[in-house]
Amino acid sequence: MKGEGAKKGYGSFFDLIEGKPKHKCKVRGCSNDRGGGRVVCFKHHMICWRTRNPLHAAYSTLRDHAKRRRLAFTLTMEQFAALVVPAGYLTRKGNNQDDLHIDRINPLKGYEHGNLQILTCSENSSKGATHDKTAWQAHYENEHPDHGPDPDESFFLKALGFEYDEPF
Ligand SMILES: [Zn+2]
Repeated sequence: MKGEGAKKGYGSFFDLIEGKPKHKCKVRGCSNDRGGGRVVCFKHHMICWRTRNPLHAAYSTLRDHAKRRRLAFTLTMEQFAALVVPAGYLTRKGNNQDDLHIDRINPLKGYEHGNLQILTCSENSSKGATHDKTAWQAHYENEHPDHGPDPDESFFLKALGFEYDEPF
């Protein structure tokens, strides 16, 4: 979107003012340069885009989060939509107790279809105790001093309720 149409679009989100230098973002109080042939800067363009495309915005946030934490991310946009839309995640995501959170069922796996569920933040933090890998590792070493460190995280997986063939 360029030109007059885009300008009107941004105007429904921000207070656009005339009379700024030509290369400056038209949003009141913003001193950034315009970008990409738009009348606003990239930051203000993205705020507008995220508000208009909440599903795509949430998907790209999750993908960035996975990338930063070096977790696999194979979820397609369609799989993401099927997971979050019926749960009302888009309007209820956040960090408060009753807000919704995307949980990896098996924390050793990434954001893959079938490994995800929507929990409230409070449900997720109670799960957090059993998901603390370091704590379980320490507990394992304490219980099995002769084994050394849990080599394949079997103890951790069993603690989480996963089937696992005991190698010992
Ligand atoms: Zn701006």
